[in-house]
Amino acid sequence: MLIDTHCHLDFPDFDADRASLMQRARSAGVARVITISTRVKRFSSIAALAESDPDIWCTVGTHPLQVLDETDVTVDELVERARHPKCVAIGEAGLDYHYDRAPHDVQAASFRRQIEAARRTGLPIVIHARDADDDMGDLLEDEMSRGAFAAVLHCYSSGPRLARRGLDLGFYLSFSGILTFKSSHEIRQIAADAPLDRLLVETDAPFLAPVPNRGKRNEPAYVADTAKVLAEVKGVSLAEIAEQTTKNAERLFTRLQPARIAEAAE
Ligand SMILES: [Zn+2]
Ligand SMILES: [Zn+2]
Repeated sequence: MLIDTHCHLDFPDFDADRASLMQRARSAGVARVITISTRVKRFSSIAALAESDPDIWCTVGTHPLQVLDETDVTVDELVERARHPKCVAIGEAGLDYHYDRAPHDVQAASFRRQIEAARRTGLPIVIHARDADDDMGDLLEDEMSRGAFAAVLHCYSSGPRLARRGLDLGFYLSFSGILTFKSSHEIRQIAADAPLDRLLVETDAPFLAPVPNRGKRNEPAYVADTAKVLAEVKGVSLAEIAEQTTKNAERLFTRLQPARIAEAAE
């Protein structure tokens, strides 16, 4: 069974059929999902989703595109909210120079506070990096020198050098539907070069649906299509990719518990 380690089930794109998403996911072999926070101030809606189903887990954090609304969120507040028993990580947090909605120093300050929350809680941090490879690598190495933390570079779409720097810091790389796009040669090469025990899969739904649903709304069930391509890239079976990426997710997200409903049905 697979885990969709990154999706946004609270987004309005799912208002019409949120209740049936998990059923379709389970039918596609996706037993658990992690719905990712983008605003600490909306954590209660994320937590409610995680409470609604034993196999939905959540995170708490501020997305780099939302930092101007959350400059007052403290490390203490993050640590307090992360006590929720279904919260498995801090984030998503990071640097986004593509949309560039906040000054870089404001993005960095928010990101560093969230790394500190990851250290204090012992939870991993889910990192969003877009068009910021060098600054991201420098910041991560600097933070690691101040104290260890665990992390995943989610929806990996940066260059090979940042992948190398992340792997050297002990981080995981998570691949989304981008891996299945025809033009994504460089991303597939990065996945091919990365160790099997550092790979995760995700949808980042509702965005970035993998082939053959590219362009449509994405949902957790489709992570199976990304896993299939990852299996081809690594030259192993889909079953092996499912087993390995699940093991990796459980090693990183230490609070994740075994699937309840899918296993009861088997
Ligand atoms: Zn992201
Ligand atoms: Zn996301």
